[in-house]
Amino acid sequence: MATNNIVVLGAGVSGLTTAYLLSQDPSNSITVAAKHMPGDYDIEYCSPWAGANYSPMGHPGTNHAKWERATWEPLKALTEKHPEAGIHFQESIIHNRKKDQETTTGKWFSALVSENPWYKDVVPDFKNVPKDQLPPGIDNAQVFTSVCINTAVYLPWLVGQCRKNGAVFKRAVFKHVSDAASAHHSGKPADVVVNCTGLSSKKLGGVLDDKLYPARGQIIVVRNEPGRMVSMSGTDDGEDEVLYMMTRAAGGGTILGGSYQKHQWDPLPDPNLALRIMKRAIAICPELVGKGQGIEGLDIVRHGVGLRPLRDGGPRIEAEKIQGVAVVHNYGHGGFGYQSSYGCAAEAVRLVKETLQKKVQAKL
Ligand SMILES: Cc1cc2nc3c(=O)[nH]c(=O)nc-3n(C[C@H](O)[C@H](O)[C@H](O)COP(=O)(O)OP(=O)(O)OC[C@H]3O[C@@H](n4cnc5c(N)ncnc54)[C@H](O)[C@@H]3O)c2cc1C
Repeated sequence: MATNNIVVLGAGVSGLTTAYLLSQDPSNSITVAAKHMPGDYDIEYCSPWAGANYSPMGHPGTNHAKWERATWEPLKALTEKHPEAGIHFQESIIHNRKKDQETTTGKWFSALVSENPWYKDVVPDFKNVPKDQLPPGIDNAQVFTSVCINTAVYLPWLVGQCRKNGAVFKRAVFKHVSDAASAHHSGKPADVVVNCTGLSSKKLGGVLDDKLYPARGQIIVVRNEPGRMVSMSGTDDGEDEVLYMMTRAAGGGTILGGSYQKHQWDPLPDPNLALRIMKRAIAICPELVGKGQGIEGLDIVRHGVGLRPLRDGGPRIEAEKIQGVAVVHNYGHGGFGYQSSYGCAAEAVRLVKETLQKKVQAKL
């Protein structure tokens, strides 16, 4: 019988993965309460906009790298055993230009483009591209098997798994994190609130985290298929513009990106940036379009913008009491919310268990 009343606040990849892991324990009774749910497209809801792939960005020895390492196996297992989750394997080619070393995107990519990265033993088929096979202007490149997640299929799949395990979903907007304690479907106060509100933790009462800020990402979804996943550490168009493309599983189209614009909140796609993204994609991968074609050969599904919830010092996975309510935070995952999702959620679940144990001990 479920004895622990838990409210998970937020239904992005962080909230849903945490709720999914928590729901596997029959002693947990879970309500997921959120302003936005899978199916919504909104600038306050980052998760639907992601590619999303597994391109580890954490530096060796950091929690970030630890969480990404811990996430590969669960994503691999889903890809192999659950086609209904909307994830597939895809060969990924990462290009590095030394001249990007000091730029915004070069720093973002620095761990990923290392010639001897920690993740080479985690992902299958890792190899450095021989120097004589590098395209012009590229200093080093590596190839490995990654995954690409169709977020429009995967987020609803997570909802389904949670519901199968008894979790209840409802829409709600909270001004203060402690208000979420009264959202449990039993009508009783929650024993723990898990705060997975992403960038909104900057404004959420009781949290007001000043270390959070957006890294704006603009993308285009097209029907064309390049046949592989391609990324590059930077571009010559601006130090916060980057190049990547990946084809989502299950007919999800190809994502062309992008940008990494820190402290920019603009929710509207910039048409000039969109042109640059499309031109760069075709320059590195002409087979995206028919022979001799330019951007007119791209069949556009939609333009989009998402705000990555970046946080100085990295994600916050921490327990605290706020106005008498036990809260476990799991937010601030920047551009790596999917590829670190299981590692971060497992850490949050550990803190939830600790919090519940302390409650039981306090009652004895
Ligand atoms: C263009 C782009 C590409 C990306 N590519 C990748 C990639 O390839 N791989 C990868 O791992 N990551 C990628 N990311 C990053 C990833 O998308 C994010 O790290 C992740 O989505 C963050 O998820 P979240 O659940 O923490 O936040 P969100 O998805 O923003 O969810 C927040 C939830 O909290 C709810 N909420 C917030 N405030 C309140 C409130 N006051 N009351 C009620 N509900 C509230 C919202 O409604 C929502 O349900 C990308 C991001 C972008 C923008």
